[in-house]
Amino acid sequence: MLHMKRNRTPKRLSRHRTENKLAASRRTAHIEKMPCFIYTAEVSSTEFVPRDCTGGFRTLTGYTTASFLKEDFYNTTIVARKDAELLQKFRCSVNSANVPRDVSYTIVTRQGKNLSVTEQVTVLGADSSRKIIGGVVTLSGKSGHSVSLSTLERDRLRFEEMAKLNKHLLEINQLKDEFLANTSHELRTPLNSIIGFLTLITEGYYEGVEELRLFTRNALDSSYHLLSVINDILDVSKIESGKMQLQIEKVYVDELIEEISTLFKVQADQKGLTFKCSLKEPPLFASADLRKLKQVLINLAGNAIKFTQTGGVIVTAEIKDRHVKFTIKDTGIGIPREKQDKLFQKFIQADGSATRRHGGSGLGLVISKHLVEMMGGQIEIESRGPGTGTTVIFTIPKWTKEDA
Ligand code: ADP
Repeated sequence: MLHMKRNRTPKRLSRHRTENKLAASRRTAHIEKMPCFIYTAEVSSTEFVPRDCTGGFRTLTGYTTASFLKEDFYNTTIVARKDAELLQKFRCSVNSANVPRDVSYTIVTRQGKNLSVTEQVTVLGADSSRKIIGGVVTLSGKSGHSVSLSTLERDRLRFEEMAKLNKHLLEINQLKDEFLANTSHELRTPLNSIIGFLTLITEGYYEGVEELRLFTRNALDSSYHLLSVINDILDVSKIESGKMQLQIEKVYVDELIEEISTLFKVQADQKGLTFKCSLKEPPLFASADLRKLKQVLINLAGNAIKFTQTGGVIVTAEIKDRHVKFTIKDTGIGIPREKQDKLFQKFIQADGSATRRHGGSGLGLVISKHLVEMMGGQIEIESRGPGTGTTVIFTIPKWTKEDA
């Protein structure tokens, strides 16, 4: 057992690292292809630490980009000895964002030629770490090699775009890792429970028919739970690949809400919660796929009960303009404001630890949003913060004569 546990962590870490390395190498490949010499660096009043450098440096000087990124750059032969100190001081002194400043100096190429160049440097962003971007804008005695300010600006934007993309890729990668860890946990938990109860039964570790029935019931409940997690995962991939088909029909909302109420009242009772339904203007008809609309209501009412310990849940349906508006309001744990925006993104859970305690794969809201939008409605989630309960509102087009 100890051996297995030890093995698991390094495997995940090394895959994570490999993917990070891959993203970084793609970015480096782009930067390497840029024809002009642009670099980014972090500076303090005395220190210049190069971070990135385009392939144009190699074309210009004959040295590899690694030579530019070396920390002892100013002690190398690339910059003429007479200019090295001045150049470093200049680069370290640039401090106003978006105001480019020029410095002229001489580069000694690998082939021993002297090139007089003018470099333009500006501060990137306004943070105190002072990241700068610089690039050679003119090259004396070599017509056709000068780089315009607009080229420098365009490359600066590309640099920033790539940095953003890189950050986004790393975030997605991290979410995927968290999702895999959570999902495998969600799949293993009911499976282990099924195996556990079936083992007790087959080994004869039960006393009497009542206990046998209890063990079988537990195994069955876990099987249903396992099935619902697997269904969620399959639903998401079906929706994302555009293979989810809808059967739009006239849905009698009153009947549907009645059904939901019967389904959840027992669960609510077991937790000591109230579960009320209110139909403001019966009869209501929606233009929807009955099974999918039911799935959304089950997801949302299920969440409301799952995340509520005291009080209860109210489900209402009413006409709002050309839509039927559904509201699922609970008095549960609520959701921190900063987490609300992201909840409809795949694999996001407001609080991983709470979710693990309450179960779930973090896909219910994503699926609900997709289904509601596919049926022509909208969905939003509101909470004034932890401990204040949660309200989910969604709309579905109402059934009109033209739909008949
Ligand atoms: P799951 O419930 O399977 O984790 P969902 O996509 O249905 O996945 O929900 C995502 C997250 O949103 C939940 O993990 C929870 O943190 C939060 N959430 C959803 N509904 C509620 C609710 N009614 N009250 C509090 N938090 C909720």
